Amino acid sequence: MCIYCGSLERHRLLWLYLTKRTNLFDAQPKNVLHVAPEPCFEPIFRRRLGAGYLTADLLDPHVMVKMDITNIQYPDEYFDVILCSHVLEHVPDDRKAIREFWRTLKPTGWAILLVPIMAETTFEDPTIVEPKERLIAFGQEDHVRKYGRDYIDRLCEAGFTVSVTTVTDMVPDHEAALRMGLTAESGEIYYCTR
Ligand SMILES: [Zn+2]
Repeated sequence: MCIYCGSLERHRLLWLYLTKRTNLFDAQPKNVLHVAPEPCFEPIFRRRLGAGYLTADLLDPHVMVKMDITNIQYPDEYFDVILCSHVLEHVPDDRKAIREFWRTLKPTGWAILLVPIMAETTFEDPTIVEPKERLIAFGQEDHVRKYGRDYIDRLCEAGFTVSVTTVTDMVPDHEAALRMGLTAESGEIYYCTR
């Protein structure tokens, strides 16, 4: 974790991707949905994205709207950008949430939907509900599954086309990656379009 801004490896990779590979900060007005906004990003996004920036969460009272991502209260093709990182592993019906992201994204828009990949294939078992058992089975007390590489298939099932970017794709120079605090822990970027 960065001692200055509190960012983790995955936040730094995402920031690099957002600034270098997307149109997020091109100053054109956009409807941006940011689910479970990370404190290291939220003030920057709010300042730079202006009126179209919307933060949402089911439980956190400090966001702009309360939202159940399996039942998004916005019309079809409303958002230009959807950002949702490390949330779906908490959501029992993640496929429905992904379909809702697809439905509410404009055909010209894009979404970055990230989860921790902790296995070869996804493991879930809805009978495991006790926090201690979830910790053992899924790696965290409030996770409902452990995602594998087949996570990308779930995004594709909902209709998304997914482009995967790794740390090495983003920063080929290993020394430079280390200086930015980017490691294997940074994960990958899943850039989804309709
Ligand atoms: Zn920092």
